[in-house]
Amino acid sequence: MEWARYFDERTETMPPAWARRLTDELLAEQVERCYGQAPFYRRKLDAAGVRPERVRTADDLRRLPFTTKDELRASQEAAPPLGDFACADPVDVVRLHLTSGTTGTPLVLGYTPEDLSTSARVGARAVWAAGARPDDTILHCMSYSFYTGGVADHDALEETGATMVPAGLGQSARLLELWDVLRPTALFSTLTYPLYLAEQAHEAGRDPRSLGLRKLIVSGEPGGQMAATRARVEELWGATLGDTYGLSDVWGTLAGECEERDGLHFLAPDAALVELIEPETGDRVAVEPGSRGELVFTHLARHATPVLRFRSRDVAEIVAVECPCGRSGFRFRVVGRSDDMFRVRGVNVFPSAVEELLRERGVDRFAVVLERFPVEPPVEILVEGLAGGEEEVAAAVKERLGFTCRVRVASLPRTETKAKRLYRVYAGEEAPA
Ligand SMILES: [Zn+2]
Repeated sequence: MEWARYFDERTETMPPAWARRLTDELLAEQVERCYGQAPFYRRKLDAAGVRPERVRTADDLRRLPFTTKDELRASQEAAPPLGDFACADPVDVVRLHLTSGTTGTPLVLGYTPEDLSTSARVGARAVWAAGARPDDTILHCMSYSFYTGGVADHDALEETGATMVPAGLGQSARLLELWDVLRPTALFSTLTYPLYLAEQAHEAGRDPRSLGLRKLIVSGEPGGQMAATRARVEELWGATLGDTYGLSDVWGTLAGECEERDGLHFLAPDAALVELIEPETGDRVAVEPGSRGELVFTHLARHATPVLRFRSRDVAEIVAVECPCGRSGFRFRVVGRSDDMFRVRGVNVFPSAVEELLRERGVDRFAVVLERFPVEPPVEILVEGLAGGEEEVAAAVKERLGFTCRVRVASLPRTETKAKRLYRVYAGEEAPA
């Protein structure tokens, strides 16, 4: 069946000038709501000497200080569960999710019914762009516990009209047994999971390509944007891969790749305002093709736990501001977490860059081991599934990424969830043998 190109044509193809006007209107309301109802924001604005009524446009936002996860965490520790940055009456809050941060206490994120419907609507635009359609039967294979990747993303996928199968994690064997009954056409998961499930299928004597999966919709790992990784996963399943992006602190899913498969469209002009900044100085970077910076989000139309100028720590590169598909949201690629970036003698390296290089060589599992800080070359890179060619990899890393490494074949942990790529031994982490 032929489906419409967009889930929400009006919003997705809105001319940029309209989008800006809509965004500015919602921003003014959001800032006033935060100032009026959340002591946390009143303190921050007062300390910065900013009157809420003076924040009327995205440009005015520069007057506001950034919000960090540590500040939000401290607010929640002092006043659990939602902290004093929450704007909604607790009675109106109908769901709590947690952030899946790998460090520190998770944040508790509240949702009113309106927040949930915004989350589902925005997420639906993104997963539709990535391929979800009403005639799909989608296996949702992320953890349903706590995180937005579970129920909130399930809601977004279901909003498209697709048939959802809430499989969760830890069900691979059962899933393969039930495969012919359920007849799924699509899989929603991390990028790592289809690789894992393909191995399980092979062990069960089935060729993944014969299972009839046509679409892989992935989220949560930078590799979804890499040509080599995409080709590898698509080839394994004989399916197309569409990447999506979101963050639980803001909206679980707010960007998705269209059929051009060249960058993630930002698809939430009515629910978030995005700024790009230089991570070290906090200076704003223009959103134009080729520019790179940390994504900073300001909620629009969020009631329970809004953020203003939230430092995401995700570093993105702008791919384009226009697209043949007609969506007007700019396109970007997530380069990595600024927390994961390491520096070897002045060269900044994201594990995702190492990943891209290795995937081109058919390597799915790898880990970077940092023994000392500051990091000194050679950096140890552990790989699994490389038959010879360690020196060629080391030479390619030196040439393309600009640092010296030592490549060693190792056995790395199997995982259904996001793969751990970086081990900071100097900080007490234990590297795989
Ligand atoms: Zn597009």
